[in-house]
Amino acid sequence: MPNIDEKLQPILAEVTRRNAGEPEFHQAVHEVLESLGRVVAKHPHYLDLALIERICEPERQIIFRIPWTDDKGQVQINRGFRVQFNSALGPYKGGMRFHPSVNLGIIKFLGFEQTFKNALTGMPIGGGKGGSDFDLKGRSDAEIMRFCQSLMTEMHRYLGEQTDVPAGDIGVGGREIGYMFGQYKRLTNRYEAGVFTGKGLAYGGSRARTEATGYGNTYFTQAMLQTRGTDFDGKTVVVSGSGNVAIYTIEKVQSFGGKVIACSDSSGYILDENGLDLALLKEIKDQRRERVSEYARIKGEGVHFIAADKGTIWDVPCDVAMPSATQNELSGKDARILVKNGVIAVGEGANMPSTPEAVKVFQEAGILFAPGKAANAGGVATSALEMQQNASRDSWTFEQTEARLATIMRNIHDTCHQTAEEYGAPGDYVLGANIAGFVRVAEAMRMMGVI
Ligand code: NDP
Repeated sequence: MPNIDEKLQPILAEVTRRNAGEPEFHQAVHEVLESLGRVVAKHPHYLDLALIERICEPERQIIFRIPWTDDKGQVQINRGFRVQFNSALGPYKGGMRFHPSVNLGIIKFLGFEQTFKNALTGMPIGGGKGGSDFDLKGRSDAEIMRFCQSLMTEMHRYLGEQTDVPAGDIGVGGREIGYMFGQYKRLTNRYEAGVFTGKGLAYGGSRARTEATGYGNTYFTQAMLQTRGTDFDGKTVVVSGSGNVAIYTIEKVQSFGGKVIACSDSSGYILDENGLDLALLKEIKDQRRERVSEYARIKGEGVHFIAADKGTIWDVPCDVAMPSATQNELSGKDARILVKNGVIAVGEGANMPSTPEAVKVFQEAGILFAPGKAANAGGVATSALEMQQNASRDSWTFEQTEARLATIMRNIHDTCHQTAEEYGAPGDYVLGANIAGFVRVAEAMRMMGVI
Protein backbone atom coordinates (compact mmCIF):
# COMPACT_ATOMS: atom_id res chain seq x y z
CA MET A 1 0.00 0.00 0.00
CA PRO A 2 2.69 2.48 -1.01
CA ASN A 3 0.44 5.52 -1.45
CA ILE A 4 -1.50 5.17 1.77
CA ASP A 5 -0.49 6.87 5.01
CA GLU A 6 0.72 4.20 7.41
CA LYS A 7 -1.91 5.13 10.00
CA LEU A 8 -4.59 4.28 7.44
CA GLN A 9 -3.13 1.02 6.19
CA PRO A 10 -4.75 -1.14 8.90
CA ILE A 11 -8.12 0.31 7.91
CA LEU A 12 -7.72 -0.85 4.31
CA ALA A 13 -6.42 -4.23 5.47
CA GLU A 14 -9.55 -4.68 7.61
CA VAL A 15 -11.90 -3.55 4.82
CA THR A 16 -10.24 -6.05 2.48
CA ARG A 17 -10.49 -8.85 5.02
CA ARG A 18 -14.07 -8.14 6.00
CA ASN A 19 -15.29 -7.74 2.41
CA ALA A 20 -13.47 -10.61 0.76
CA GLY A 21 -13.98 -11.09 -2.97
CA GLU A 22 -15.17 -7.53 -3.63
CA PRO A 23 -12.33 -5.98 -5.68
CA GLU A 24 -14.28 -2.94 -6.91
CA PHE A 25 -15.18 -2.02 -3.34
CA HIS A 26 -11.55 -2.41 -2.21
CA GLN A 27 -10.47 -0.22 -5.16
CA ALA A 28 -12.93 2.55 -4.26
CA VAL A 29 -11.89 2.54 -0.59
CA HIS A 30 -8.20 2.42 -1.50
CA GLU A 31 -8.59 5.48 -3.72
CA VAL A 32 -10.29 7.52 -1.00
CA LEU A 33 -7.80 6.44 1.70
CA GLU A 34 -4.94 7.60 -0.54
CA SER A 35 -6.31 11.13 -0.15
CA LEU A 36 -7.01 11.02 3.58
CA GLY A 37 -3.45 10.97 4.94
CA ARG A 38 -3.40 14.77 4.73
CA VAL A 39 -6.75 14.96 6.55
CA VAL A 40 -5.75 12.86 9.56
CA ALA A 41 -2.49 14.78 9.80
CA LYS A 42 -4.59 17.94 10.25
CA HIS A 43 -7.47 16.39 12.24
CA PRO A 44 -6.12 13.39 14.19
CA HIS A 45 -9.40 13.07 16.12
CA TYR A 46 -10.99 11.45 13.03
CA LEU A 47 -8.76 8.46 13.79
CA ASP A 48 -9.57 8.42 17.51
CA LEU A 49 -13.28 8.40 16.75
CA ALA A 50 -12.90 5.56 14.20
CA LEU A 51 -14.75 7.77 11.74
CA ILE A 52 -13.04 6.36 8.68
CA GLU A 53 -13.74 2.76 9.71
CA ARG A 54 -17.38 3.66 10.33
CA ILE A 55 -17.72 5.38 6.96
CA CYS A 56 -16.30 2.28 5.21
CA GLU A 57 -18.96 0.06 6.78
CA PRO A 58 -22.44 0.32 5.19
CA GLU A 59 -25.24 1.04 7.66
CA ARG A 60 -27.37 -1.75 6.15
CA GLN A 61 -27.07 -4.26 3.28
CA ILE A 62 -30.15 -5.97 1.90
CA ILE A 63 -30.01 -8.94 -0.49
CA PHE A 64 -33.20 -10.52 -1.77
CA ARG A 65 -34.74 -12.99 -4.22
CA ILE A 66 -36.61 -11.70 -7.27
CA PRO A 67 -38.76 -14.45 -8.82
CA TRP A 68 -40.67 -13.59 -12.01
CA THR A 69 -42.27 -15.34 -14.98
CA ASP A 70 -41.01 -14.82 -18.53
CA ASP A 71 -43.17 -14.66 -21.67
CA LYS A 72 -42.87 -18.43 -22.17
CA GLY A 73 -44.27 -19.09 -18.71
CA GLN A 74 -40.86 -20.10 -17.34
CA VAL A 75 -40.00 -18.98 -13.79
CA GLN A 76 -36.80 -16.90 -13.61
CA ILE A 77 -34.86 -15.87 -10.53
CA ASN A 78 -32.63 -12.86 -10.08
CA ARG A 79 -30.89 -11.42 -7.08
CA GLY A 80 -31.69 -7.92 -5.78
CA PHE A 81 -29.51 -5.62 -3.70
CA ARG A 82 -30.00 -2.41 -1.78
CA VAL A 83 -27.02 -1.10 0.18
CA GLN A 84 -27.97 1.75 2.51
CA PHE A 85 -24.51 3.14 2.98
CA ASN A 86 -24.67 6.34 4.98
CA SER A 87 -27.52 8.54 6.20
CA ALA A 88 -25.57 11.21 8.09
CA LEU A 89 -26.55 13.96 5.67
CA GLY A 90 -30.05 12.82 4.67
CA PRO A 91 -32.08 9.85 3.41
CA TYR A 92 -30.08 7.22 1.50
CA LYS A 93 -29.98 8.30 -2.12
CA GLY A 94 -28.57 6.51 -5.15
CA GLY A 95 -29.61 4.67 -8.27
CA MET A 96 -30.57 1.13 -9.16
CA ARG A 97 -28.42 -0.75 -11.69
CA PHE A 98 -29.70 -3.68 -13.80
CA HIS A 99 -26.82 -5.51 -15.47
CA PRO A 100 -25.67 -9.15 -15.43
CA SER A 101 -22.37 -8.08 -13.85
CA VAL A 102 -24.06 -6.71 -10.70
CA ASN A 103 -22.95 -8.24 -7.42
CA LEU A 104 -22.66 -7.07 -3.82
CA GLY A 105 -19.12 -5.68 -4.24
CA ILE A 106 -20.13 -3.53 -7.20
CA ILE A 107 -23.15 -2.14 -5.39
CA LYS A 108 -20.98 -1.41 -2.33
CA PHE A 109 -18.35 0.44 -4.37
CA LEU A 110 -21.12 2.50 -5.96
CA GLY A 111 -22.77 3.21 -2.59
CA PHE A 112 -19.46 4.24 -1.05
CA GLU A 113 -18.69 6.64 -3.93
CA GLN A 114 -22.26 7.92 -3.81
CA THR A 115 -21.90 8.95 -0.18
CA PHE A 116 -19.07 11.39 -0.97
CA LYS A 117 -20.63 12.51 -4.24
CA ASN A 118 -23.87 13.40 -2.53
CA ALA A 119 -21.97 15.27 0.17
CA LEU A 120 -20.16 17.26 -2.52
CA THR A 121 -23.45 18.49 -3.99
CA GLY A 122 -24.15 20.32 -0.73
CA MET A 123 -27.70 18.88 -0.74
CA PRO A 124 -29.25 17.03 2.25
CA ILE A 125 -28.86 13.49 0.90
CA GLY A 126 -27.10 10.40 2.24
CA GLY A 127 -25.59 7.63 0.11
CA GLY A 128 -27.05 4.34 -1.11
CA LYS A 129 -27.13 2.14 -4.18
CA GLY A 130 -28.95 -0.93 -5.42
CA GLY A 131 -29.65 -3.13 -8.36
CA SER A 132 -29.93 -6.60 -9.74
CA ASP A 133 -28.08 -9.05 -11.99
CA PHE A 134 -31.09 -8.89 -14.34
CA ASP A 135 -30.17 -8.68 -18.05
CA LEU A 136 -32.63 -6.52 -20.00
CA LYS A 137 -31.22 -7.46 -23.40
CA GLY A 138 -33.81 -9.34 -25.45
CA ARG A 139 -36.52 -8.94 -22.80
CA SER A 140 -40.00 -7.70 -23.75
CA ASP A 141 -41.66 -4.71 -22.05
CA ALA A 142 -44.03 -7.10 -20.29
CA GLU A 143 -41.13 -9.15 -18.89
CA ILE A 144 -39.37 -6.01 -17.70
CA MET A 145 -42.55 -4.84 -16.00
CA ARG A 146 -43.07 -8.15 -14.21
CA PHE A 147 -39.46 -8.16 -13.09
CA CYS A 148 -39.69 -4.58 -11.76
CA GLN A 149 -42.93 -5.37 -9.94
CA SER A 150 -41.43 -8.44 -8.29
CA LEU A 151 -38.33 -6.49 -7.26
CA MET A 152 -40.46 -3.77 -5.68
CA THR A 153 -42.69 -6.27 -3.91
CA GLU A 154 -39.70 -6.95 -1.68
CA MET A 155 -37.82 -3.65 -1.81
CA HIS A 156 -40.74 -1.33 -0.96
CA ARG A 157 -40.45 -2.12 2.74
CA TYR A 158 -37.00 -0.51 2.95
CA LEU A 159 -37.85 2.71 1.06
CA GLY A 160 -39.57 6.00 1.86
CA GLU A 161 -39.09 9.65 1.01
CA GLN A 162 -37.47 10.22 4.42
CA THR A 163 -35.63 6.88 4.41
CA ASP A 164 -34.25 5.75 1.07
CA VAL A 165 -34.87 7.27 -2.36
CA PRO A 166 -33.65 5.27 -5.40
CA ALA A 167 -33.21 6.50 -8.99
CA GLY A 168 -31.79 5.13 -12.27
CA ASP A 169 -28.35 3.90 -13.31
CA ILE A 170 -27.12 1.43 -15.94
CA GLY A 171 -30.14 -0.39 -17.40
CA VAL A 172 -32.62 1.65 -15.38
CA GLY A 173 -34.23 4.56 -17.20
CA GLY A 174 -37.68 6.16 -17.31
CA ARG A 175 -39.47 2.92 -18.27
CA GLU A 176 -38.07 0.87 -15.38
CA ILE A 177 -38.56 3.68 -12.85
CA GLY A 178 -42.20 3.98 -13.93
CA TYR A 179 -42.81 0.27 -13.32
CA MET A 180 -41.07 0.32 -9.94
CA PHE A 181 -42.81 3.49 -8.75
CA GLY A 182 -46.19 2.17 -9.92
CA GLN A 183 -45.77 -0.99 -7.87
CA TYR A 184 -44.55 0.97 -4.82
CA LYS A 185 -47.71 3.10 -5.01
CA ARG A 186 -49.95 0.03 -5.14
CA LEU A 187 -48.23 -1.70 -2.26
CA THR A 188 -48.13 1.27 0.09
CA ASN A 189 -51.39 2.95 -0.92
CA ARG A 190 -49.53 6.27 -0.80
CA TYR A 191 -48.75 8.75 -3.54
CA GLU A 192 -45.27 9.38 -2.24
CA ALA A 193 -43.70 11.13 -5.23
CA GLY A 194 -40.47 11.87 -3.35
CA VAL A 195 -39.65 8.16 -2.90
CA PHE A 196 -38.13 7.84 -6.38
CA THR A 197 -36.35 10.27 -8.66
CA GLY A 198 -35.89 10.17 -12.40
CA LYS A 199 -39.69 9.85 -12.70
CA GLY A 200 -41.59 10.73 -15.86
CA LEU A 201 -42.74 14.34 -16.17
CA ALA A 202 -46.36 13.17 -16.13
CA TYR A 203 -46.09 11.92 -12.53
CA GLY A 204 -43.74 14.20 -10.61
CA GLY A 205 -40.46 14.01 -12.51
CA SER A 206 -38.20 17.00 -12.87
CA ARG A 207 -37.33 18.69 -16.12
CA ALA A 208 -33.61 18.35 -16.90
CA ARG A 209 -33.17 15.24 -14.69
CA THR A 210 -32.68 13.01 -17.75
CA GLU A 211 -30.01 15.37 -19.10
CA ALA A 212 -28.43 16.24 -15.77
CA THR A 213 -25.53 13.79 -15.44
CA GLY A 214 -24.17 14.35 -18.95
CA TYR A 215 -24.80 18.09 -18.86
CA GLY A 216 -23.26 18.28 -15.40
CA ASN A 217 -20.07 16.50 -16.43
CA THR A 218 -19.78 18.89 -19.37
CA TYR A 219 -20.18 21.93 -17.08
CA PHE A 220 -17.56 20.53 -14.69
CA THR A 221 -15.09 19.75 -17.49
CA GLN A 222 -15.66 23.18 -19.02
CA ALA A 223 -14.84 24.78 -15.64
CA MET A 224 -11.62 22.73 -15.49
CA LEU A 225 -10.65 23.79 -19.01
CA GLN A 226 -11.26 27.41 -18.03
CA THR A 227 -8.63 27.15 -15.28
CA ARG A 228 -6.17 26.76 -18.17
CA GLY A 229 -7.71 29.58 -20.20
CA THR A 230 -9.52 27.37 -22.71
CA ASP A 231 -12.93 25.71 -23.25
CA PHE A 232 -14.79 23.14 -25.42
CA ASP A 233 -15.08 25.39 -28.46
CA GLY A 234 -13.37 23.71 -31.42
CA LYS A 235 -12.14 20.75 -29.37
CA THR A 236 -12.34 17.15 -30.57
CA VAL A 237 -14.08 14.98 -28.00
CA VAL A 238 -14.54 11.23 -27.47
CA VAL A 239 -17.40 9.98 -25.25
CA SER A 240 -17.63 6.28 -24.39
CA GLY A 241 -21.02 4.60 -23.94
CA SER A 242 -24.25 5.59 -25.68
CA GLY A 243 -26.68 5.46 -22.80
CA ASN A 244 -28.21 8.22 -20.73
CA VAL A 245 -24.97 9.83 -19.55
CA ALA A 246 -23.18 9.59 -22.90
CA ILE A 247 -26.05 10.94 -25.01
CA TYR A 248 -26.51 14.09 -22.92
CA THR A 249 -22.78 14.64 -22.62
CA ILE A 250 -22.62 14.66 -26.41
CA GLU A 251 -25.56 17.07 -26.57
CA LYS A 252 -24.00 19.59 -24.18
CA VAL A 253 -20.49 19.34 -25.61
CA GLN A 254 -21.92 20.05 -29.06
CA SER A 255 -23.80 23.08 -27.72
CA PHE A 256 -20.48 24.36 -26.29
CA GLY A 257 -18.89 24.10 -29.75
CA GLY A 258 -17.03 20.81 -29.27
CA LYS A 259 -16.97 18.11 -31.95
CA VAL A 260 -17.76 14.62 -30.63
CA ILE A 261 -16.41 12.09 -33.10
CA ALA A 262 -16.82 8.73 -31.32
CA CYS A 263 -19.07 6.87 -28.90
CA SER A 264 -19.61 3.19 -28.06
CA ASP A 265 -21.57 0.39 -26.47
CA SER A 266 -20.43 -3.02 -25.27
CA SER A 267 -20.30 -4.30 -28.88
CA GLY A 268 -17.73 -1.71 -30.08
CA TYR A 269 -17.37 1.95 -31.07
CA ILE A 270 -18.31 4.21 -33.96
CA LEU A 271 -16.06 6.88 -35.46
CA ASP A 272 -17.57 9.77 -37.43
CA GLU A 273 -14.89 12.37 -38.18
CA ASN A 274 -17.55 14.90 -39.24
CA GLY A 275 -19.02 14.88 -35.76
CA LEU A 276 -21.78 12.57 -34.50
CA ASP A 277 -25.33 13.08 -35.73
CA LEU A 278 -27.04 13.13 -32.35
CA ALA A 279 -30.62 12.97 -33.63
CA LEU A 280 -29.83 9.70 -35.41
CA LEU A 281 -27.95 8.33 -32.40
CA LYS A 282 -30.88 9.11 -30.09
CA GLU A 283 -33.31 7.43 -32.46
CA ILE A 284 -31.17 4.27 -32.60
CA LYS A 285 -30.49 4.12 -28.86
CA ASP A 286 -33.55 5.64 -27.17
CA GLN A 287 -36.30 4.54 -29.50
CA ARG A 288 -35.15 1.52 -31.49
CA ARG A 289 -32.86 0.25 -28.70
CA GLU A 290 -30.32 -1.07 -31.20
CA ARG A 291 -26.51 -1.41 -31.26
CA VAL A 292 -24.24 1.51 -32.23
CA SER A 293 -23.15 -0.38 -35.36
CA GLU A 294 -26.57 0.53 -36.77
CA TYR A 295 -25.40 4.17 -36.91
CA ALA A 296 -22.46 3.23 -39.16
CA ARG A 297 -24.72 1.07 -41.32
CA ILE A 298 -27.18 3.92 -41.91
CA LYS A 299 -24.55 6.64 -42.43
CA GLY A 300 -22.45 4.50 -44.74
CA GLU A 301 -19.20 5.76 -46.22
CA GLY A 302 -16.82 7.68 -43.99
CA VAL A 303 -18.29 6.33 -40.74
CA HIS A 304 -16.61 3.34 -39.14
CA PHE A 305 -17.74 0.73 -36.64
CA ILE A 306 -14.90 -1.00 -34.80
CA ALA A 307 -15.93 -4.13 -32.92
CA ALA A 308 -14.92 -4.41 -29.25
CA ASP A 309 -12.44 -7.23 -29.96
CA LYS A 310 -10.70 -5.13 -32.66
CA GLY A 311 -9.84 -2.00 -30.68
CA THR A 312 -10.93 0.42 -28.00
CA ILE A 313 -12.50 3.85 -28.31
CA TRP A 314 -9.47 5.32 -26.49
CA ASP A 315 -7.36 4.64 -29.60
CA VAL A 316 -9.13 7.62 -31.20
CA PRO A 317 -7.04 10.83 -30.88
CA CYS A 318 -8.93 13.61 -29.08
CA ASP A 319 -8.49 16.75 -26.97
CA VAL A 320 -11.02 15.74 -24.32
CA ALA A 321 -12.03 12.21 -23.24
CA MET A 322 -15.29 11.63 -21.36
CA PRO A 323 -15.66 7.99 -20.25
CA SER A 324 -19.40 7.49 -19.67
CA ALA A 325 -20.07 3.73 -19.82
CA THR A 326 -18.94 1.72 -16.80
CA GLN A 327 -16.25 1.06 -14.15
CA ASN A 328 -12.67 0.25 -15.16
CA GLU A 329 -13.35 0.81 -18.85
CA LEU A 330 -10.19 2.92 -19.32
CA SER A 331 -6.93 1.11 -18.54
CA GLY A 332 -3.39 2.37 -17.92
CA LYS A 333 -2.54 1.40 -21.49
CA ASP A 334 -5.52 3.36 -22.83
CA ALA A 335 -4.45 6.37 -20.73
CA ARG A 336 -0.93 6.26 -22.16
CA ILE A 337 -2.35 6.23 -25.70
CA LEU A 338 -4.63 9.17 -24.92
CA VAL A 339 -1.71 11.14 -23.47
CA LYS A 340 0.50 10.31 -26.45
CA ASN A 341 -2.29 11.52 -28.75
CA GLY A 342 -2.41 14.86 -26.94
CA VAL A 343 -5.47 14.66 -24.66
CA ILE A 344 -5.68 17.72 -22.38
CA ALA A 345 -8.65 16.86 -20.15
CA VAL A 346 -10.60 13.84 -18.92
CA GLY A 347 -14.06 14.21 -17.37
CA GLU A 348 -15.49 11.01 -15.88
CA GLY A 349 -19.23 10.66 -16.55
CA ALA A 350 -19.32 7.04 -15.38
CA ASN A 351 -18.47 5.88 -11.87
CA MET A 352 -14.77 4.91 -11.52
CA PRO A 353 -14.27 4.33 -15.28
CA SER A 354 -10.50 4.89 -15.12
CA THR A 355 -8.38 2.22 -13.44
CA PRO A 356 -6.02 3.42 -10.66
CA GLU A 357 -3.13 3.05 -13.12
CA ALA A 358 -4.91 5.23 -15.69
CA VAL A 359 -5.56 7.96 -13.11
CA LYS A 360 -1.87 7.91 -12.21
CA VAL A 361 -0.87 8.24 -15.88
CA PHE A 362 -3.17 11.27 -16.34
CA GLN A 363 -1.99 12.96 -13.18
CA GLU A 364 1.70 12.40 -13.86
CA ALA A 365 1.23 13.83 -17.36
CA GLY A 366 -0.42 16.95 -15.89
CA ILE A 367 -3.74 16.27 -17.64
CA LEU A 368 -6.83 17.94 -16.16
CA PHE A 369 -8.63 15.00 -14.57
CA ALA A 370 -12.14 15.12 -13.08
CA PRO A 371 -13.11 12.06 -10.99
CA GLY A 372 -16.64 10.73 -11.46
CA LYS A 373 -17.66 11.33 -7.88
CA ALA A 374 -17.41 15.07 -8.55
CA ALA A 375 -17.96 15.35 -12.30
CA ASN A 376 -21.06 13.14 -12.54
CA ALA A 377 -22.75 14.53 -9.41
CA GLY A 378 -25.14 16.61 -11.55
CA GLY A 379 -27.53 13.66 -11.83
CA VAL A 380 -28.02 13.16 -8.13
CA ALA A 381 -28.03 16.92 -7.49
CA THR A 382 -30.94 17.27 -9.91
CA SER A 383 -32.59 14.29 -8.21
CA ALA A 384 -32.43 16.33 -5.00
CA LEU A 385 -34.05 19.20 -6.92
CA GLU A 386 -36.77 16.75 -8.00
CA MET A 387 -37.33 15.86 -4.34
CA GLN A 388 -37.60 19.59 -3.56
CA GLN A 389 -40.23 20.08 -6.27
CA ASN A 390 -42.18 17.05 -5.04
CA ALA A 391 -42.08 18.27 -1.41
CA SER A 392 -43.43 21.68 -2.40
CA ARG A 393 -45.82 20.22 -5.01
CA ASP A 394 -44.18 22.45 -7.57
CA SER A 395 -42.75 22.00 -11.06
CA TRP A 396 -39.94 24.16 -12.35
CA THR A 397 -39.12 25.07 -15.94
CA PHE A 398 -36.25 23.41 -17.79
CA GLU A 399 -34.27 26.66 -17.76
CA GLN A 400 -34.75 27.18 -14.02
CA THR A 401 -33.64 23.62 -13.25
CA GLU A 402 -30.68 23.71 -15.60
CA ALA A 403 -29.56 27.04 -14.15
CA ARG A 404 -29.54 25.44 -10.67
CA LEU A 405 -27.57 22.49 -12.06
CA ALA A 406 -25.00 24.80 -13.66
CA THR A 407 -24.50 26.66 -10.37
CA ILE A 408 -24.19 23.42 -8.40
CA MET A 409 -21.57 22.06 -10.83
CA ARG A 410 -19.59 25.29 -10.65
CA ASN A 411 -19.70 25.08 -6.83
CA ILE A 412 -18.56 21.44 -6.83
CA HIS A 413 -15.73 22.33 -9.18
CA ASP A 414 -14.64 25.26 -7.03
CA THR A 415 -14.91 23.23 -3.81
CA CYS A 416 -12.66 20.48 -5.22
CA HIS A 417 -10.22 23.01 -6.63
CA GLN A 418 -9.98 25.02 -3.40
CA THR A 419 -9.77 21.95 -1.17
CA ALA A 420 -6.88 20.58 -3.24
CA GLU A 421 -5.06 23.88 -2.83
CA GLU A 422 -5.80 24.05 0.89
CA TYR A 423 -4.33 20.56 1.36
CA GLY A 424 -1.20 21.32 -0.65
CA ALA A 425 -2.02 19.58 -3.94
CA PRO A 426 -3.17 22.31 -6.38
CA GLY A 427 -4.99 21.00 -9.45
CA ASP A 428 -5.56 17.52 -7.95
CA TYR A 429 -9.33 17.14 -8.31
CA VAL A 430 -9.21 13.55 -7.02
CA LEU A 431 -7.75 14.66 -3.71
CA GLY A 432 -10.01 17.73 -3.58
CA ALA A 433 -13.18 15.67 -4.17
CA ASN A 434 -12.25 12.91 -1.73
CA ILE A 435 -11.32 15.27 1.08
CA ALA A 436 -14.20 17.73 0.65
CA GLY A 437 -16.76 14.90 0.45
CA PHE A 438 -15.26 12.98 3.36
CA VAL A 439 -15.01 15.96 5.71
CA ARG A 440 -18.69 16.87 5.23
CA VAL A 441 -19.85 13.35 6.09
CA ALA A 442 -17.32 12.89 8.90
CA GLU A 443 -18.25 16.20 10.55
CA ALA A 444 -21.95 15.34 10.55
CA MET A 445 -21.23 11.90 12.04
CA ARG A 446 -18.92 13.36 14.67
CA MET A 447 -21.66 15.71 15.86
CA MET A 448 -24.16 12.85 16.11
CA GLY A 449 -22.04 10.74 18.46
CA VAL A 450 -21.14 7.12 17.94
CA ILE A 451 -23.48 6.19 15.11
P1 NDP B 1 -27.11 3.30 -19.51
O1 NDP B 1 -27.59 1.95 -19.20
O2 NDP B 1 -28.08 4.32 -20.01
O3 NDP B 1 -25.90 3.23 -20.56
C1 NDP B 1 -24.75 2.50 -20.28
C2 NDP B 1 -23.87 2.51 -21.52
O4 NDP B 1 -22.61 1.95 -21.17
C3 NDP B 1 -24.41 1.68 -22.66
O5 NDP B 1 -24.00 2.22 -23.88
C4 NDP B 1 -23.78 0.32 -22.40
O6 NDP B 1 -23.64 -0.50 -23.55
C5 NDP B 1 -22.42 0.72 -21.89
N1 NDP B 1 -21.93 -0.31 -20.96
C6 NDP B 1 -22.48 -0.70 -19.79
N2 NDP B 1 -21.79 -1.69 -19.22
C7 NDP B 1 -20.77 -1.93 -20.07
C8 NDP B 1 -19.70 -2.85 -20.05
N3 NDP B 1 -19.55 -3.72 -19.04
N4 NDP B 1 -18.83 -2.80 -21.07
C9 NDP B 1 -18.98 -1.91 -22.09
N5 NDP B 1 -19.98 -1.03 -22.16
C10 NDP B 1 -20.86 -1.04 -21.17
O7 NDP B 1 -26.39 3.82 -18.16
P2 NDP B 1 -26.02 5.31 -17.72
O8 NDP B 1 -25.68 6.12 -18.92
O9 NDP B 1 -27.10 5.78 -16.82
O10 NDP B 1 -24.74 5.06 -16.81
C11 NDP B 1 -23.41 5.09 -17.35
C12 NDP B 1 -22.41 5.31 -16.21
O11 NDP B 1 -22.70 6.57 -15.57
C13 NDP B 1 -22.43 4.27 -15.10
O12 NDP B 1 -21.13 4.14 -14.56
C14 NDP B 1 -23.31 4.92 -14.04
O13 NDP B 1 -23.06 4.41 -12.75
C15 NDP B 1 -22.87 6.37 -14.17
N6 NDP B 1 -23.80 7.35 -13.64
C16 NDP B 1 -25.09 7.44 -14.11
C17 NDP B 1 -25.93 8.42 -13.62
C18 NDP B 1 -27.29 8.64 -14.18
O14 NDP B 1 -27.92 9.65 -13.81
N7 NDP B 1 -27.81 7.80 -15.06
C19 NDP B 1 -25.51 9.32 -12.52
C20 NDP B 1 -24.11 9.19 -12.17
C21 NDP B 1 -23.32 8.22 -12.70
P3 NDP B 1 -24.59 -1.79 -23.75
O15 NDP B 1 -25.95 -1.23 -24.04
O16 NDP B 1 -23.99 -2.52 -24.89
O17 NDP B 1 -24.56 -2.55 -22.46
